[in-house]
Parts: sequence; C-alpha cells; structure tokens
Amino acid sequence: MSVFEELQEVIPGGVNSPFRSFGQVGGTPPVLARGLGSRVWDVEGREYLDLLCAWGPLVLGHSHPLITRAVREALEDGTIFGAPTTWELELARLVRRCYPSMEKVRFVNSGAEAVASALRVARAATGRSRILKFEGNYHGHVECLDAAGEEADEIGGALALGASPALTAETLVARYNSLDSVREHELDRVAAVILEPVTGSMGVIAPDPGFLEGLRTLCLRHGCLLIFDEVLCGFRVALGGAQERYRVTPDLTCLGKALAGGLAVGAFGGRRELMDLLAPVGTVYQAGTFCGNPLTVRAALAALKAYSQPGFYARLESLTERLAGLRELGITYQAVGSLFSLGFGPPRLRDERDTAQLDRDRYARFFHGMLARGVYLPPSTGDAACVSAAHTLEEMDRVLEAASEVLAGKDSRT
Ligand SMILES: *Cc1c(COP(=O)(O)O)cnc(C)c1O
Repeated sequence: MSVFEELQEVIPGGVNSPFRSFGQVGGTPPVLARGLGSRVWDVEGREYLDLLCAWGPLVLGHSHPLITRAVREALEDGTIFGAPTTWELELARLVRRCYPSMEKVRFVNSGAEAVASALRVARAATGRSRILKFEGNYHGHVECLDAAGEEADEIGGALALGASPALTAETLVARYNSLDSVREHELDRVAAVILEPVTGSMGVIAPDPGFLEGLRTLCLRHGCLLIFDEVLCGFRVALGGAQERYRVTPDLTCLGKALAGGLAVGAFGGRRELMDLLAPVGTVYQAGTFCGNPLTVRAALAALKAYSQPGFYARLESLTERLAGLRELGITYQAVGSLFSLGFGPPRLRDERDTAQLDRDRYARFFHGMLARGVYLPPSTGDAACVSAAHTLEEMDRVLEAASEVLAGKDSRT
C-alpha cells in the first residue's frame, strides 16, 4: 500500500482539506516531506518547484530563516499563555499601519474564523441577518456557503450540504464585477456585502475599475457594511492588500493565510466603533483558546517586517510579470501582485461564469505534464497559484520552458 493509500484508510480522502486530493486533475498527490525556499520534496525524494505556496501563506517561501528564528524564540519563551502579551500589541499596531481601515483588530486561527467573526459583528451592528456574497468567491467553510460555483461541482455537491438551511437562506448571491446584479437585491435588508476584492479560487480576477467604488457607495446608501475578505489577497497584491492597491476603504477586513508567514492564523478588524461591539467592551461574543498565541503572533511580526522592506512587492510582481509569457502559449494567464492563475479557455476572466468555461481535462493534462517536470501547480484550474520572495526569475523562465514543452507534447523524460 502506498503512503497515500494508507492515509486514505484513516483520513477521509487522505487529506485534511478536500482540494489537496487531486480530485479535479486525477492521479495521486505526492506525499510531501520537506520544503526549503521555493522547493518542496516528497517522501520519495523528488524535488518540485513549488508554485502552490501552501495555497497562499508562504510569501517568504518555506522555512525562511526569519520565520524559523521567530518560532524558535517563541518555543523557548512559551507558545501560549491565554493572557495578554506585548507581541499582540506590536502586531496589532503593525497590521493597522499596513491596513489603516483596521483601527482595531482581533487575531484568530484561520480565515474561516475571521470571516465568521466579522459577519457576526456586521449582523450585530446592523440588526440585519442577510449577507450578500458573489458567485465563485470563497470565504472558508463556515459562512457564506452558496450551492453555486466551482467548488460545488468540484466536490460533487453543494458546499452548504450539512450546514443549517437558515444560514444558506440568508446568503444572497450576486455576480462578481456586476453592480447591476447587486442592485437586484434588497440591500436595505442586508447586513453586509462581502467579497474577495481580488479573487483567488475562481481565477485571479481583479475588480473592474469602479466596481469596488460602486459597492462602497451602495453600501453607504443602504446602511450595510462592506467587508473585504483579504484572507488570500492580503499581503499578496500589496502590503496593504487590495484596499491599498485600489484605494477603497471597507468597513471590516478579514486577513489570514500570509499574515503569519506559514503559521495558522486569521484576523479581522475595522472601525473602532464596530470592533468595540465585541465582548468584553460590547456584547458580541467572539473568543478562542489559541487566538493571538505567541507562536503565531511572533511569526507574523517577523513576516510583516520582511514584507515591509522597500521593493519587496515590486520584486514579487516582477516574477509574475515574467510568467505573463505563458499567454503566448495560449494559456489564460491572470495575475495580480504575487498571485496568478492558469487555465485553457476564454482569453480573459471577469467572473465565475468565465471561469466555469475553463477546460478541465486540458488543464489536468497540463498539470501532470508540469508535475512530471518538477513544477507543482494548484491541482485545479483557475485556482490561485503563488510566487514567493524565495523564487527567482530563472525559475520563472524554467516554468515557461516546461510549459512550452508540455504544450508541444514533448515527453518529460527527454
Ligand atoms: C482560504 C480563504 C479563506 C479561508 O481561510 P482558512 O484559513 O482556510 O479557513 C477565506 N477567504 C478567502 C478569500 C480565502 O482564500
């Protein structure tokens, strides 16, 4: 029995998160043993250039010395206290410097938790219960679950199966990049409009000019809150995320993935008066044993200091710009900052309906061709791939070369 078969005996599908199972591309995922910089190695010792970057967190690559040092120091000083620390003070200030709209912030353990907590604040602040989201936008497995979208047919069912029907009944769905589809809803009864200001799981799609501004205006007019779910695009499309890049200020922001440079984390924050609705100042309950633990917080401090170096994001963007050469090979290549997506289909993606047209079989063949050449891409078409500061332009050229070989039908062993 292979290691992956053994895993399947004791863990559903052999994975602790469904997309890791290669469900869309077929085949067996390599079982990984080690990562360093831009590379990972599987249990059989095969090396891959890692363009998954753990689905977002690894902006510095694997085992970056600054993160390793911060974690080692935290291990020696105690990893968790369940009491306030100065590290949290420093991190909250640093997050606010990067995201000035987050006047106050709470640290949690995952993006899903950040989203669930932000929505609870929004519902309490407005006294309304409905949430408006966008087709194909992903907000974690807890809230904002719509039956439509790529993930739904990916897993052969609705994302919301097993969730309370009350929850899904209160989730309205609009079309990304379409203000008209937002206006079709009764916004006066909506607590919050939540979106990925740059999307990840339906392809890396940037907001059309005016889209975020239009949402900002509509939310103000109808008294609903605007929530940017920057769990993926935060610290990826700019140090200050999409709100910095597109200069639109949300009421609440969710962060996660890259915030702690590879440790489990989430955060949500916004205007003081909204965040002060939370207990113990207000009466909205949100809590967690591991929230703000020093291991994670000290790693996040190290990560944010590294991300803040001058030229850090320009360099990341030069890597994805180099990969734009993939378009000449007929690939639907979309990139913002250090995020990019690949597919075969419409030349440009603007919303989930375009993404749905991507050719999955063709991507599956391409994916396995690349994997055989030692390039690890996301195992589903359109899903966000990432570069890190550990990647180089030479490695990007290697990706271009591998892609042109795969598309020319060359055998990987030659
Ligand atoms: C990954 C992701 C989440 C969920 O974060 P987890 O840490 O996996 O719970 C939420 N929103 C967006 C935009 C994401 O990309």
